[in-house]
Amino acid sequence: MERPSVIHKTASDLRLPPNWNNYEGERSVDVWDVARRALQGLPGGGLNIGFEAVDRHAASALRDRTALRFISRSSPAIDLSYGELARQTNRFANMLRGLSVGQGDRLFVLAGRIPELYVAVLGALKNGTVVTPMFSAFGPEPIATRINLGAGQVLVTTDVLYKRKVKQMREQMPTLRHVLLVAEDGGITNEPDTLDWVTLMASAPDAFNTVDTQPDDPALLHFTSGTTGTPKGALHVHGAVVTHFCTGRYALDLHPQDRYWCTADPGWVTGTSYGIIAPLLQGVTSLIDREEFDAERWYSLLEQERISVWYTAPTAIRMLMKSGPELARRHSYPALRFVASVGEPLNPEAVWWGKEVLGLPIHDNWWQTETGGIMIANTPAFDIKPGSMGRPLPGIEACIVEHLEAEGEPPRVRIIDTPDVEGELALKSGWPSMFRAYLNNEARYRKCFAGDLYLTGDLARVDADGYYWFVGRADDVIKSAGHLIGPFEVESVLMEHPAVAEAGVIGKPDPIVGEVVKAFVSLKDGYQPDEALRMDIMAHARKRLGAAVAPKEIAFLPTLPRTRSGKIMRRLLKARELGLPEGDTSTLEGGA
Ligand code: ATP
Ligand code: MG
Repeated sequence: MERPSVIHKTASDLRLPPNWNNYEGERSVDVWDVARRALQGLPGGGLNIGFEAVDRHAASALRDRTALRFISRSSPAIDLSYGELARQTNRFANMLRGLSVGQGDRLFVLAGRIPELYVAVLGALKNGTVVTPMFSAFGPEPIATRINLGAGQVLVTTDVLYKRKVKQMREQMPTLRHVLLVAEDGGITNEPDTLDWVTLMASAPDAFNTVDTQPDDPALLHFTSGTTGTPKGALHVHGAVVTHFCTGRYALDLHPQDRYWCTADPGWVTGTSYGIIAPLLQGVTSLIDREEFDAERWYSLLEQERISVWYTAPTAIRMLMKSGPELARRHSYPALRFVASVGEPLNPEAVWWGKEVLGLPIHDNWWQTETGGIMIANTPAFDIKPGSMGRPLPGIEACIVEHLEAEGEPPRVRIIDTPDVEGELALKSGWPSMFRAYLNNEARYRKCFAGDLYLTGDLARVDADGYYWFVGRADDVIKSAGHLIGPFEVESVLMEHPAVAEAGVIGKPDPIVGEVVKAFVSLKDGYQPDEALRMDIMAHARKRLGAAVAPKEIAFLPTLPRTRSGKIMRRLLKARELGLPEGDTSTLEGGA
């Protein structure tokens, strides 16, 4: 179906006056400086994420406002106010201090989305202790690998996860000094060589002076999603709070009265930067659903919890689309006013689906574990071009570059000034949430920079209006008969076909043209994978893309392999197609 290329916004779409509406004007301001002044800072002159997110509000009129609202199928909702969160995080910080765990020490959390995870992360930050939340679905090996790579001294987990996944590996994690257990039945644990959360928390004082961390002091260690290879540990600092603050306002349009839901798990950087920190910084109420994806449940939550700002991912949107519009139409979303997505390219079809089914277009935005926060976004301040990631946020300078170095040399690049030319997406370094190291891999870190430019590893182009368009990851681009083909373009066209729920495209080696395009497709409910459908999808792709770019082969799969953060793992599709080793699959969904 032909659609307009721009979605114009009206003031009434947002229901509240947007946080900003003048793109150029806002970009001419030193927004980091403005944000630093809006934050409180520590009495000793430092800056601390946990303090700004929690204590600043606990000492204000927001004290009794619900900060975090946890819901699950099996137990009643738990609401933690800003005041209560401050007391609990103080207790936790005191508990760490009592265990001689201090500034710069490393703490890992392995738990579902339970309140204790959030208390541990924020309390550790206040104590200056560096935190890593891990996906609770990780198996024993990925857990031990990460704790060892990060030289973790403390692990917070549940009794059940401990017995199932950690106990047998304990000997192989020599740096681990303390394991703190939360009993899943709410009681008290008595595992040998572990400590009990409830007991220690009960005896810890609920007043704590936040450690005087400086903007450059380490705060969070986050592992990348492992979409293109072994996950890398990206180290972030307390100064990142400045970016979290700005982006919560610019890219998510958070207002203090919002009821916000970020669907990401804190095991993925989105679930920490935007599932914990950014919403608290804006004083909003955040919903945390402890259950996994379920289309009917999610629509009900949006309605019943009166969610006003929703931050989710393309994979979830595609699954909702797959479940059909009728399910969505059984509910209504009068409170919803802003929807955003991150993690993968958002196909134009998905942006339009939002407009048609939820009544709101979806704002795609782009960032990475390495960037710590949203860098390029569709925002309330300008129109959406469906399929584009939007424009660089105030404070962020982006460009498209071409590499000039020879094989094996350090990166050397040239900025491409002409619009609409594909190249690597680069950012001018120096934004506050920029990662400061890949753990134990200085050489890899250095290779990400050319002069003052950070090289993202993603290919994109920028149009004459300054909108960025994702082409593909540098690793995933297909070279066929002299053409460079970005998988996203092909996948988006496949998704226009009414039967297609998701698509992953790879290059398959071919002696004549170099690589041919092969597509893996999963179907929407109610469609049968047969030859007639394959031909129909193929014909659609040829018509839209031309024979040179359209897939030569289409295979049907019930689902596509993806990471726990929801990204299609094209490298696995490729390895399986070619019978090659699968490489690191620690983050593969359903793989642990
Ligand atoms: P790894 O680096 O281990 O291969 P990863 O890059 O998937 O994993 P993340 O840091 O979680 O790990 O993901 C960032 C990447 O996700 C980006 O570099 C980009 O490739 C992709 N991405 C994120 N948001 C978008 C978006 N809006 N559009 C297109 N791609 C996106
Ligand atoms: Mg990456």
